[in-house]
Amino acid sequence: MKPILTIFFDGLKPESLESMPFLNSFKDKRRMRTILGYSVACHASMYTGIYPDKHLLWFVWRYSPETSPFKWVRYLRNIPLMNTLPGKYFFTKTARLFERNTSYFGIPMVVNLPLKYWHYFDVSEKKFWDEPGYLPGYPTIFEILRSKGIGIDIVGMDKGVSDVSEIERYQFTEVKPFTYLFVGSVDLFSHRLGQDSPEARKRLKKIDQLIEKKYEELRKREGSFNFVAFSDHGHIKVAKRIDLYAVFKEKGQDLNRYLHVIDANYARFWFRDDRERTNIEKILTEIPCGFILTEDLLKKYHVMMPDNRYGDLIFYLDAPHVFSKTIWGFSRSINSMHGYSPDYPDSDGVFISNQEIKNDTPVELVDILPTFLSLLGIEIPPYVDGRNIWNKRDG
Ligand SMILES: [Zn+2]
Repeated sequence: MKPILTIFFDGLKPESLESMPFLNSFKDKRRMRTILGYSVACHASMYTGIYPDKHLLWFVWRYSPETSPFKWVRYLRNIPLMNTLPGKYFFTKTARLFERNTSYFGIPMVVNLPLKYWHYFDVSEKKFWDEPGYLPGYPTIFEILRSKGIGIDIVGMDKGVSDVSEIERYQFTEVKPFTYLFVGSVDLFSHRLGQDSPEARKRLKKIDQLIEKKYEELRKREGSFNFVAFSDHGHIKVAKRIDLYAVFKEKGQDLNRYLHVIDANYARFWFRDDRERTNIEKILTEIPCGFILTEDLLKKYHVMMPDNRYGDLIFYLDAPHVFSKTIWGFSRSINSMHGYSPDYPDSDGVFISNQEIKNDTPVELVDILPTFLSLLGIEIPPYVDGRNIWNKRDG
């Protein structure tokens, strides 16, 4: 069996391949349809072959007072000066000492959320993508390959790696059947620079040259191998910031009175009574650049959850807007974003291969696992939502 060299680019748009002549030279390219959500949902879907409504990882923070790493914070929340950035930093650092969390995001600091609400929330990911038991009940591509005794090499997929230096250093000394190079930097610089800026294009060109070099190194050693490069979503330039706290204030309401979490372009709410729901729905329906996700939409995008872990109500802020005050910070350096509707072409990622792609429909994130399994001659588990894209449509 031919070895596989695969390269993942976080957030690479199909249009950006114009700046990447090597990758662009492959004949077999497809647009990659993303899912409604961010990295947590994308990676879980790629590595397990199932949609969020099955693997249940959608956002970083979920409602879970019983398991919150901040349970103890409720007893300290009224001490003066604690509900400030240094106080929040202290609580986050302390929680990290007592919680075993090896996931990509770990326990991030919750910037814009009053301390009084912290103990309601827990992070949804506990383990790293390639760790055993990442998603109970649904083994990842890494677990399946390991269980079959197939050697894998994962390069650059570490927390805090913001460049391609690990890939630059990597040598194909002992070629494994599955080599996975992880380029996380494209998403990082795209958020700041926008992906079509001259500086971003320059960086993409350099990465393309590095990939060509690695490809040639492996070609000289092995002759023939399967090559797959893919990304999980695109990028959309941000044109306007919305301060949801100010929107509530204009309507005579204090957003901090309600249990909520604001991600870059989602505002999620949990209600203590029907009056809260009525008040919040009234304000949200008056915001012109977004809408409440209905049950039909949640089902359409495969993100319907069995409970209210990600919100009793989820408001979606549409492109090209972001919220200015979020759990992550103040969005000042965010000039480009993702997490918007998968129906926008700008939300698409890419899928490129040196093999003929027979399926003529766009590739989806859930196709990644079955596609690799079929290259390695491994049976695809029956619960998998994705398809093997080397076959003709729905093959
Ligand atoms: Zn991102």
